[in-house]
Amino acid sequence: METEKKYNKLSAEEDMIINHKATERAFTGKYYEFTGNGIYVCKKCNAPLYNSTDKFVSDCGWPSFDDEIKGAIKKVPDTDGLRTEIICNNCGGHLGHVFVGEQLTPKNTRHCVNSLSLNFIPKDSLITENAVFAGGCFWGVEHYFKKVDGVISTRVGYTGGKTKNPDYKQVSYENTNHAEALEVTFDANKTSYEALTKLFFEIHDPSQVNRQGPDVGTQYRSVIFYADENQKNTAIKLIEILKSKGYEVATILEPLSDFWEAEEYHQDYYEKHHSSPYCHIYQKKF
Ligand SMILES: [Zn+2]
Repeated sequence: METEKKYNKLSAEEDMIINHKATERAFTGKYYEFTGNGIYVCKKCNAPLYNSTDKFVSDCGWPSFDDEIKGAIKKVPDTDGLRTEIICNNCGGHLGHVFVGEQLTPKNTRHCVNSLSLNFIPKDSLITENAVFAGGCFWGVEHYFKKVDGVISTRVGYTGGKTKNPDYKQVSYENTNHAEALEVTFDANKTSYEALTKLFFEIHDPSQVNRQGPDVGTQYRSVIFYADENQKNTAIKLIEILKSKGYEVATILEPLSDFWEAEEYHQDYYEKHHSSPYCHIYQKKF
């Protein structure tokens, strides 16, 4: 799969850094002192990596961040046996190194990144929108949406019920009426609510009622939590198209209410465990 992906063309210098792990000279990169408001994406594959709100000024000579966009960065032991290398979780491109314990910010972490590994996208040019879907175990739903070009970030959580700040145990064993759900933040210049909603229908079986595959219970119901009338109308339109093609659709439309982020160990579950969903498979329907 990896070799079939199309990556951006890199200059010789970028290639040395991103594909051969070289390091740009300190204090020479275009972003080390840069303070624009927006996001930093991978130079090679355009995956969003860092928010400008997590960038801080350090005197190391390279752009420094004390946090990453969730799931964007992979940390691997450097071949020097000492440091921790950071690479793009999507394409494996070299970014730099991460250091902890320096007490430079409250998060006590410094991602030291080559400017040449990054591209900056100003906030003004981003049109961000959120979509919230529930279609069975949220691990599997997140697994598919994370890969979509234009998706900036994802997080799994609970919504649709009444209990405030629920935990996994409550949602699993008590009558909270919350569903396991996924919130997708996307750049509307690059993808659309309609495209993401189509994907939602294609990665789960919307004909199942209060279950998805082996997972049974109202928390596994198929729901589109719409944020406004446009999202609602898009969902209605797609359900009608599916029905006209002969699919049964039990998906419910519910207005979006509070979204409670799930425990950290549920976030990016399949990536953390280097495995793939047992409960969701992609099937083209549109
Ligand atoms: Zn990348």
